[in-house]
Amino acid sequence: MARICLSLLANTLSENQRILSESSCSFAELRIDYLEPSEWSGIPQFAKDFSGDLILTCRKVCDGGLWPDDQDAKREELLLSALQGGFSFVDLEENFESSKLVAAAKSQNTKIIRSFHDFQTVPADLESRLRAMKQKGDLVKAAVMPQGMADVITLFEIGMNWTDRNAADESSLILLGMGDYGVPTRILAERMNSYLTFCSAKGKSAAPGHMNYQTLHELYRVDQIEKDWDIFAIIGNPVLHTRSPEIHNKGLQNIGRKGVYVPFTVDDVPLYFDLARKLSIQGFSVTVPHKEAVIEHLVKVDDGVKAVGACNTVLYRDGAWEGVNTDIIGFLRPLENLGEIKKHPQGLKGFRTAVLGAGGAARSAVYALVSKKCDVTIFNRTLEKAESLASEMGCQVGSLKALRKGNEKPFDIIVQTTSAGMEGPYEKMNPLDTYSYEGSEVVYDIIYIPEETLFMKDALQAGCSVLGGWPMLVEQGRAQFLLFTGEELPA
Ligand code: NAP
Repeated sequence: MARICLSLLANTLSENQRILSESSCSFAELRIDYLEPSEWSGIPQFAKDFSGDLILTCRKVCDGGLWPDDQDAKREELLLSALQGGFSFVDLEENFESSKLVAAAKSQNTKIIRSFHDFQTVPADLESRLRAMKQKGDLVKAAVMPQGMADVITLFEIGMNWTDRNAADESSLILLGMGDYGVPTRILAERMNSYLTFCSAKGKSAAPGHMNYQTLHELYRVDQIEKDWDIFAIIGNPVLHTRSPEIHNKGLQNIGRKGVYVPFTVDDVPLYFDLARKLSIQGFSVTVPHKEAVIEHLVKVDDGVKAVGACNTVLYRDGAWEGVNTDIIGFLRPLENLGEIKKHPQGLKGFRTAVLGAGGAARSAVYALVSKKCDVTIFNRTLEKAESLASEMGCQVGSLKALRKGNEKPFDIIVQTTSAGMEGPYEKMNPLDTYSYEGSEVVYDIIYIPEETLFMKDALQAGCSVLGGWPMLVEQGRAQFLLFTGEELPA
C-alpha cells in the first residue's frame, strides 16, 4: 500500500508541528524553502523530534518552490546543516549535482529521492528520464501535468510497469499527475506502484491537485488500498465538485468492502474505457457531459437508458459494459416519499406538474413523472428544446415568461431542473423570481450545491413544501451502490 506524505508548508517550525499533531500523519515532507530564515537553525531538532519518516526538501522557484533560483550555494549549505537532524529522505532535483550532499546523506543513512517537476505537460521521454535518474538516487520522483486522458493513461502505464524494487520489496518510484486530470493518480498511488502520494494541510496546497490529509486518509483510504481492492469511479468534466465520492466511499467503508470510488475528469470517453479495462474498474457513475456518449460502448442498457437516452451508471458484467439509468428512480423516490404525495392513494397520478428546463436532468425527471401519469408541462429558456422534449415524452409546453408573470393556471408540483441557482456564476439566479405561489405547491429543485437555492428560499417563504437536490443525489447513488456492490447503502 502507498503512504500518504503530508507536505509541511508553514513558515515556522512550530506551525508545522501543530499541523502534524492535528493530522496524525506519520510521513511528512518538510519544505524548508517555505521557512523564515530565523527558523533554519531549528530544522535538525525538528527532524530529531519527529518519530515518523521525514523528507527534507528545499525547492527552487523554477521547480515550483520558493527558494530563489540564483542561490544554489546557500541552498547546499542549508541542506547540509539540516541533514544533521537525521532525515529519512532528502529530495534533490534531477539536475542538482552536489557530491557533498550525496556523501552527507549516505553518512546519515538518508535515502536520496531524485525528482523533477513539469507544470505544463507530461514529457514524452518521462519513462526513460525516470530510469536515468535511478542511477543517481534510491528513489525517483516525477510530478507532471496531464492534459487529458491520454496523459493519464501514460502515467498509469509507466507506474503499473515499474518493477524496480528495494530489498524490502518497496517500489523505487514516486509518480503523480497534477491538476484535475491527475487526481486518480494520487488516489490510486498503490496501482501506480508509487511509494507515496503527497497531500497538504487543510487550506494549503503545495501543487495543483493536492488534496488534504483527511480527504486522502479518511475518505479515499489511500494508505489502506491494496492490489486486490475493487475500483469504482465517477466520470465527468468537470467532476471534482461532485459529492458522489462521499456517498460511495463512506458506504464502502461501512459495509467493510475493500473498494474505493475515484473521480476521473474525462475529456475522451473511448480512452477512458481503455483505462477502465486496464484498471479493472468494476462499475462507474457518469455525469455531465458524458451520459449520452457512454452509450455506444455498452452491450446492454436498461429501459430507462433507452427511454431517456442517457446513462448515469455503467457496470462491468461478464467481460462487457452494461448501462443503467438510476437518475429516474433517484428523482422519484424523494418526491414519492413526501407526506403530501404519500397521502394520495394513486401517488403522483394526475398531479399538475411544471418542469423548468429541458436539458439532460429534465429528460430523466420528465420521463419519471410521465411514467407515474403526472400531467406534465415543460418550460424552458429555449422554447424549441422544450417542444422537442415534450413531443418525445408526450407532454405539454408552456411559456416560461407567462409562468413567471403568473399567467398560467396554478401547478401542484413545480420541478426546477435548470442550472440557474447552482453554485458558481448562476448561483444568484432564480428562474422563477417573479412567480407568486399559492403556498400549497410541492416545489422540487434538483440542484444540490448550494443545499438551498434562491428558488427554494422563495417557495419556502410562500409556505410551499420544498425539496432540494441532495436526496435525489443520494437516492440515485443508493441505487448505484446496490448495483456496484450487491449490498444496500448503509443509512
Ligand atoms: P444541461 O443538460 O446542461 O441543461 C441545462 C438546462 O438549464 C437547460 O434547460 C438550460 O436551458 C437551462 N439553463 C441553463 N442556464 C440557464 C439560465 N441562466 N436561465 C434559465 N435556464 C438555464 O444540464 P443538466 O444535466 O440538465 O443539469 C441541470 C442541473 O441539474 C444542474 O444544476 C445539475 O447540478 C442538476 N442535477 C442534479 C442532480 C441530482 O442528483 N440532484 C442530477 C443531475 C443534475 P437552455 O435549453 O435554454 O440552454
